[in-house]
Amino acid sequence: MLQFGGFSFAVLLFTVTAATVERVQHDYYKYHPMEEISTWMTQMAKDHPDLVTIVDYGRTYEKRTIKLLKIGLNTEAKKKAVWVECGIHAREWISPAFCQYFVKQILQTYKTDAKMEKMVRNMDFYVTPVLNVDGYVYTWNDSTTRLWRKNRTPGPSSGCYGTDLNRNFDSNWGTVGVSFDCKKEIYCGTHVMSELETQAVTYFVGTRKDDFLCFLTIHSFSQMILLPFGHPNYTASNYNELMKVGLGAAEAIWKVHGQNYTVGTSPDVLYPFSGSSQDWAHMQGIHFSYTFELRDKGTFGFQLPEDQIQPACEEAYSGALHIITYAHDQTFSGAVVTAAATLWTLLLAAGVTLM
Ligand SMILES: [Zn+2]
Repeated sequence: MLQFGGFSFAVLLFTVTAATVERVQHDYYKYHPMEEISTWMTQMAKDHPDLVTIVDYGRTYEKRTIKLLKIGLNTEAKKKAVWVECGIHAREWISPAFCQYFVKQILQTYKTDAKMEKMVRNMDFYVTPVLNVDGYVYTWNDSTTRLWRKNRTPGPSSGCYGTDLNRNFDSNWGTVGVSFDCKKEIYCGTHVMSELETQAVTYFVGTRKDDFLCFLTIHSFSQMILLPFGHPNYTASNYNELMKVGLGAAEAIWKVHGQNYTVGTSPDVLYPFSGSSQDWAHMQGIHFSYTFELRDKGTFGFQLPEDQIQPACEEAYSGALHIITYAHDQTFSGAVVTAAATLWTLLLAAGVTLM
């Protein structure tokens, strides 16, 4: 009897422990394989059904689903949107880690932070933790594949794999900073938008392009905030404003852990290249389009140690938030006044006497 009681107690303990283990917080300061990121996405949607939905918006060559988390409050009003895209380059592991942190921060703050609450009311955040799913999975295979950059589509000649997705978009495709040799890391594909991942983003964002205020694509490394265009012959119509907001973001980053980020177009501060998602987004009329190159400046490069995930995400979040807040305020600062004016007009039209 005693033994039985002891056994029950043990079972009960185990159940409680198992339940606790099930609910143990996702560790945002470790790198996670794709399976764990998928599980985390499911959990986010389950935990916040009023705010988070999973959207499947594409399929890779190796038949994996490309997914994003849509975060926003359901309102009657027409909403604007923000795009945050991580993991376009497989080996840049800090990028998916950032997207997970970014989601966590929004979900943690919107209930207590009036500004964030307003933003999730006015805008939907579309966050893709890993765009290049096949490539990311490949980097987790073993140490020999850890530094893979491209996707995993077989190339036109035997023995070569992968296209650089950030050279494959319809933005001066194939003109500068690319290779047509499929063995190279910056191979731009057989033709513009040849890749399923590129097509998925182009279709999803392209069909809603008027809604998007902001397009942020997250990479590593070198600590930079890049703005359009990657092609040296073109200048963004809002270059001055992009620089101003970018410098503001760099300052916000610096305030967190004292890290310096360089701001400018890629030809000015890094190297010229064509076919990037950032340039494509700007060409669609999404005015606040930026590429973040996260930590570090080359000491560890793509293999940023896990103990730097937290500071790297904290500072980058602050920079991203600066840009998103600016874009939001530009669109919504007069919203209350406009709504009041509309109501006034409606009441007058209905012949209501106001006293
Ligand atoms: Zn990259």
